[in-house]
Amino acid sequence: MEDEDLLRYSRHILLEEFGIDGQARVSAGHALVIGAGGLGSPALLYLAAAGVGRITVVDPDNVDLTNLQRQIVHTTARVGAPKVDSAAAGMQAINPEIVIDTHIARADEVLLDRLVPTADVVLDCSDNFATRHAVNRACVQHRKPLVAGAAIRFDGQLSVYDARDAASPCYACIFPPEAAFEETLCAVLGVFAPVVGTIGTLQAHEALKLLAGIAPSLAGRLLMFDGRRTAFDSLRVARDPHCSVCAPR
Ligand SMILES: [Zn+2]
Repeated sequence: MEDEDLLRYSRHILLEEFGIDGQARVSAGHALVIGAGGLGSPALLYLAAAGVGRITVVDPDNVDLTNLQRQIVHTTARVGAPKVDSAAAGMQAINPEIVIDTHIARADEVLLDRLVPTADVVLDCSDNFATRHAVNRACVQHRKPLVAGAAIRFDGQLSVYDARDAASPCYACIFPPEAAFEETLCAVLGVFAPVVGTIGTLQAHEALKLLAGIAPSLAGRLLMFDGRRTAFDSLRVARDPHCSVCAPR
């Protein structure tokens, strides 16, 4: 590690559990981030600041004025630009040392099948069930740990689904694709800005732990944030032996 890196990452290196080896693993790591919106913004900024060596970001949209209330990786000057380009500019401004790959695309099955096998950890920062299920299926198939977050109004939730661990549920064990969940979009219902910041930051927190090899992860627990009470609750979650996605594995 170069002298400048020792300085840049010194506050991580000082951590007993992290150390120079943990930083080396983070620097050698590859995070795939699906979505550069409210959750993706803080997640991407923390992953970049922490020196994740390669970050791939996927989002089909352009920066819109209505995004800026909470999507902190974007700026007023970049309204109209592709979100992945804006996010790359924000990340590169903090840390020019890392490699950033961008895809102006929806995370469909074909793209995920190409990108997920190359990643060490996947962060689902998307805002709809179809994408969440597609990301989960790809992570189960390629045995990659998934850090999935969601936020709406004053509520957030987060978990890790680790297909490398036979005891860990997948996203579909908890939220079966065949169940008719009501799609709730923040464009309709609104979202309190720091709630996406809280959940997106915790996604980076879990992803960095996974990359650095700091156990245990949140796998097996669903963390819920009630932003009205400013309180966290967590539920134990188990594998569904009849899950349509992970049961046959
Ligand atoms: Zn499952």
